[in-house]
Amino acid sequence: MTALELAEKIKQRQISVLDGVKTVFAEIEKKENRIHAYLDIYKKEAYARARQVEKGIAEGIYTGPLAGVPVAVKDNICVKGKKTTCASRMLENFVPPYQAEAVSRLEQAGMIVIGKTNMDEFAMGSTTETSAYGITRNPWNTDHVPGGSSGGSCAAVAAGEAYLALGSDTGGSIRQPSSFCGVTGVKPTYGTVSRYGLIAYASSLDQIGPIGKNTADCAALLEVIAGRDPKDSTSLDRKDLDFSEAMDQKITGMKFGIPKEYLAKGLDGEVKNSFMEALKILTGQGAIVEFFSVDTMEYMIPAYYIIASAEASSNLERFDGVKYGYRAADYEGLHDMYYRTRTEGFGEEVKRRIMLGSFVLSSGYYDAYYLKALRAKALICQEFDRAFEKYDVILAPAAPHTAPKIGESLKDPLSMYLGDIYTVAVNLCGLPAISVPCGMDSKGLPIGIQMIGNRFEEKKIFRSAAAFERGGRD
Ligand code: GLN
Repeated sequence: MTALELAEKIKQRQISVLDGVKTVFAEIEKKENRIHAYLDIYKKEAYARARQVEKGIAEGIYTGPLAGVPVAVKDNICVKGKKTTCASRMLENFVPPYQAEAVSRLEQAGMIVIGKTNMDEFAMGSTTETSAYGITRNPWNTDHVPGGSSGGSCAAVAAGEAYLALGSDTGGSIRQPSSFCGVTGVKPTYGTVSRYGLIAYASSLDQIGPIGKNTADCAALLEVIAGRDPKDSTSLDRKDLDFSEAMDQKITGMKFGIPKEYLAKGLDGEVKNSFMEALKILTGQGAIVEFFSVDTMEYMIPAYYIIASAEASSNLERFDGVKYGYRAADYEGLHDMYYRTRTEGFGEEVKRRIMLGSFVLSSGYYDAYYLKALRAKALICQEFDRAFEKYDVILAPAAPHTAPKIGESLKDPLSMYLGDIYTVAVNLCGLPAISVPCGMDSKGLPIGIQMIGNRFEEKKIFRSAAAFERGGRD
């Protein structure tokens, strides 16, 4: 059952809110020791809240399309009074006295937060293997990773351990694990969802977004969490947030563009075949599909990793053993306390990013690396702007391959970074994009196709993704 179907049945009084909650906890009990999607589970609170929501629905307080639906939240998004660790030892015991705006909106919509999901430490990674609290396994094949960094959220939805989940996407962390887990995930236009209460990785790129079983569920959840929030100065006052409106429209005559360089070297053959099959489904519905050329592809990964690491090194300065979380037990003086706290509190990948980021921002290298990365970003975005003059939607694979085996990726971080080739430009340019399942490889692992829209054109990607789902069924 999808989240919208569950909510409809609740509304019709065929299922109680408590039954819906019980169903997910039954799945969690059955599967968690194998999958480990969650870092924290709120069973008692969820049961109590279910009764309260049941009453609220009966009294007409909660009238929205997702009222009564259980939802999981990535552990870098603050839930007031609940541990929020970012899967880091550094925040092992951090209990925020405030709540993310996105979570407050879930509650206002009558949804039930059931727990916090595993992730790469501070959202840095592509596999959920950099978590300080153990790996998450891919529900389709537990020898493989679920992707990352929102691997816990995507695995939870794929395994039926959640109807819906929130993730965060800085360079692909919603779309790539969605594709690896065979679920649907959306990275909204920058500024659409408040970042208040999302623990910052790279502030100019971070967005919270929905993960669900299909496009309609994601559109409904994005409607719940989107909107202007005065607590986040980068959040926008948009008037076009009725995404579900777009779901039934046909795509006849819509123009889709594909950067032909995206399909050249580095793309797995099975992923490519499945992508080409997906194009047939779109053209079968009257869409126009064309290839075009991009010149900036080779700059995407370097520009992203320089900018993201630079911002991360600055954002993570606050974790110094004084203000938040972990502090080393033994130290001699202030500087040694900083040194030991950060040495012990952060994992390898986070330290790598902090060092890279500090380096590219240091005087003497700032112009050569950071400023150059900003210039490359401007060129990349100009190319996308030009493409959107011609095309409604840009298509790309979500990732160059399906989910790798556990233990294979971290040995060679640089080649892991290359796996983000199809997702990072979207964040650099603030664009919205959705990843939808489009097939399976011969090992039985899911493949995803990415639909990228121009800024504020979520409706076009929801419309395209919904048409694609319908087309795939026929
Ligand atoms: N894999 C990318 C990184 O490690 C993206 C992470 C993300 O979107 N949070 O930076």
